[in-house]
Parts: sequence; C-alpha cells; structure tokens
Amino acid sequence: MKNSILLLLVLELFGCLTLASTFTPHSKSYFAQLSLRVKERRDKKGDPCKKIDQRTNTPFISKSNHMTLSSKVRSTDSKQLEDKSGLRIIISGAPASGKGTQCEMIKEKYDVVHLSTGDMLRAAVAARTDVGIQAKDYMDSGNLVPDDVIIGIVRDRLNEDDCKQKGWLLDGFPRTAAQADALAEAGVCVDCFIFLNVADEALVDRVVGRRTDPLTGKIYHMTYSPPEDEDITARLTQRSDDTEEKVKVRLAQFHANVDAVKGKYSDIAIDIDGSAKPTDVTSAISLAIEAQVFS
Ligand code: ADP
Repeated sequence: MKNSILLLLVLELFGCLTLASTFTPHSKSYFAQLSLRVKERRDKKGDPCKKIDQRTNTPFISKSNHMTLSSKVRSTDSKQLEDKSGLRIIISGAPASGKGTQCEMIKEKYDVVHLSTGDMLRAAVAARTDVGIQAKDYMDSGNLVPDDVIIGIVRDRLNEDDCKQKGWLLDGFPRTAAQADALAEAGVCVDCFIFLNVADEALVDRVVGRRTDPLTGKIYHMTYSPPEDEDITARLTQRSDDTEEKVKVRLAQFHANVDAVKGKYSDIAIDIDGSAKPTDVTSAISLAIEAQVFS
C-alpha cells in the first residue's frame, strides 16, 4: 500500500498519470527526465552493460556460428553495444497477441526505434538477400528461422546509431533461450520485458481474420476491426503464414519456447492481459513501463 502511494506520487511528479492513458507522445522535457531516470536506475542497479564494456571482445555468437552467417553479418565487429539512456524494451507474446498494434503506440510515446524481426525477415525475403533465402522456407511453413541467422541480424541492427541513441523496442526477439543468451552475452541490457497474454483460441481467430493495408501499413481484422471503406477492402493483403494450418505450427513453436524465454527476464517482466481492448492494453502497458522505470 505504502509502495503504491509512493509510486503514484512519483508518477504524478513526472507528469505521467495523465499522459500514460493516452496515445500522445511525451514532451521533450519528459524524455529528458525519462533518460535521466533510466540512467540513474541503471547506475543504481549496477548496469551489467558497464561491466561488460570493461571486458574485452565478448563475442555475440560463437565462431562456428559466425561461419554460417551471411557476409554482412560476418563482417560485424565485436564492439559492445554502447550504454545510452533511451529505453530498451522487449515485447513478447504469441502470434497475433497484439504486439504490432501496441508497438505503434510504444514507439511514438517513448521515442524508441521499433525493430520487428518478422518485418526484417519479410523484407529480406522480398529483397532475396542471403538471409532472406535462408529464412524463406522456415517462415513459409510457420517455423522459426535458425538462431544463427536471426541473431546476427538483430545484433547488427542494435549496434546502429539510432538504436544506441534513442533506445529500442524489440518485437519478436528473443524467441528462444539461445537468442536471449546471445543478447545477454553481447552486453545488451533490457529495461522492461512486456509479455502479452492471450488464449490460443482467440489467437487463431485473430490470425485468420487479419489483413494489412499495404498503403498505410494499418492492420485490420475482417470481423473485429473491419476496413473503413470498399477501396481499402479491395487492396488489403493477407500474410501467407496467417492461415489456420500455419498458425498452429507457429503456436506450437511459441509454446515450446515461451517459458525458457520468460525465465530469462523474470526480474523485469511485465505481464499484460492482451485480450482486453487495444486502448486498454495500451494504457496498462504505459502504466507498467512507467511504474518500472520510475520505481
Ligand atoms: P508472429 O509473431 O505473428 O508469428 P512475426 O511477424 O513476428 O509473426 O514473425 C513471422 C515469422 O518470422 C515467424 O513465424 C518466424 O518464421 C520468423 N521469425 C521472426 N522472428 C523470429 C525470431 N526471433 N526467431 C526465429 N524466427 C523468427
């Protein structure tokens, strides 16, 4: 009780309460406060990134795994990811648990870089890069792509300047214990691990009715959030793995790995009921992030 009151006072102090229940991005001064708070929090907890920074040359993946990666991934140097003070968030949940929808809000509100490994892999498949060629068959069948393919891509991306400066929101990674270990070994520190909980029956329904507008990127559901007009309806596309048959494979992969992945982040995990209305899920996520960061 005492803790809750204290927390409310702190949230009030930083002007979070009103902002947290809306989609409005925060002000510049808010980000300055947030950055300061994130930094203080990491310093207080003894940020593991700093300790790792002092070591030399910690590899992200083993040399043998390096051998199987594309030349772009192989050429990455082994410099540690820098410790800046933007928020570093992982969002996790089953296929169609609402990660994409919530990421739109989180990235605007906390001014972080959104990295969806599903989107990155689909772009690689479309561009027929080495990674795309390696990933395609796995994705088409609803299976996970091999760890050594995806780990290299994510490590490279997190090492780019925008991620180091603004912080990031990692969507769809890590999905296996090996991926989580690889992040930790690279000295990647995470502030919050958000997990969206939704029952399997609802997920199948959500996946099968899901459509995307290629013009705006907006995601619709033919029953629950149908397109506004016929023009939009006519151009909607469906992901090739959004079928009942493939979502069952994706769900099986998810269940085989979820406990191991969650176990890696138990100290920073935020469990959210993903079956609520999207705006309610958004409010719950905002409050939980801010409670975690400002606690
Ligand atoms: P969803 O979470 O809705 O299944 P995503 O767009 O996140 O969809 O991912 C689509 C596909 O991309 C996955 O089924 C998988 O084949 C591949 N993929 C994405 N992220 C990873 C990852 N971290 N590890 C392995 N495969 C991945």
